[in-house]
Amino acid sequence: MKMELRGREVIAARLPALAERARLLTEAGRRPTLALVRLGEKPDDLAYERQILRRAEAVGIQVRAYVLPVDAPAGLLTETARQISDDPTIHGCLLFRPLGDPVAEAAFAAELAPEKDVDGMTRGSLARIYAGSGTGFAPCTAEAVFELLDHYEIPLEGANVTLVGRSLVIGRPAALLAMHRNATVTVCHSRSRDLAAACRRADILIVAVGRRGLIQADCLQGGQVIIDVGIHVLEDGSITGDVDPAVLPDDCRVTPVPGGLGPVTTLSLARHVIEAAEGR
Ligand code: NAP
Repeated sequence: MKMELRGREVIAARLPALAERARLLTEAGRRPTLALVRLGEKPDDLAYERQILRRAEAVGIQVRAYVLPVDAPAGLLTETARQISDDPTIHGCLLFRPLGDPVAEAAFAAELAPEKDVDGMTRGSLARIYAGSGTGFAPCTAEAVFELLDHYEIPLEGANVTLVGRSLVIGRPAALLAMHRNATVTVCHSRSRDLAAACRRADILIVAVGRRGLIQADCLQGGQVIIDVGIHVLEDGSITGDVDPAVLPDDCRVTPVPGGLGPVTTLSLARHVIEAAEGR
């Protein structure tokens, strides 16, 4: 029978321990604090921000919002990153990405203290993901995949993991994190020749593309674990993913969209902020 891997269950199991760590930090006069930096009022950013605020409140993390003009120049981003980096009462920082201007995004990342980079954008974080050493954290969505797999006790050691998508925020870091966990990893992208065969080979299939219904029956086989990272908001306001839910084999385990991986992303973010506040 098909089994849904639900984010809500991961949160119910893991949030109390995080809240306790936040409480201890606050008692010690170090209330975990996250700076959110948003440019303009993009609906996607605002929706993500609402989810972050809800999760932060549940865990006991304080949030400070920095809202800049949508066309903020690189100089203003640099100045904001410097201010956050120098503020000892802020432990973590998340910039809503992608920005329209990649130069401004890079300028922000260059100035942000790596130990406050809770979403894997600085060189320190990239080194950590790549080499397993260095300062910083993996991007929250990539890390959430492993938080969810761990919760459901799905082993990575020796497993065939196929990633569809190789972006810097999800596909690439998730591939490296899977490799650190001794999985055998295949990464597919828009030029991959036989996507369906690479997907069928997977024990664990992670899809992060942004194309509704990309994964069809020819990509799937019985017994797989399927992590659908894609998010598509349809005209009627409903949400769906990259995997066509109508073609799922009966005996697979799958993250539904919505309700699967999405909620776990803010849990990973909360954990990063607490680890940063603990001075990991
Ligand atoms: P992205 O930067 O646009 O990257 C998409 C990747 O998919 C690229 O590597 C691209 O290949 C690959 N691709 C495109 N068409 C393909 C095809 N036909 N076959 C195989 N690969 C293909 O997107 P992203 O930022 O990684 O986001 C991916 C999805 O995750 C989006 O739907 C986004 O909304 C969602 N998302 C979810 C969460 C969450 O919390 N669940 C968080 C963030 C984003 P090339 O490299 O060759 O171009």
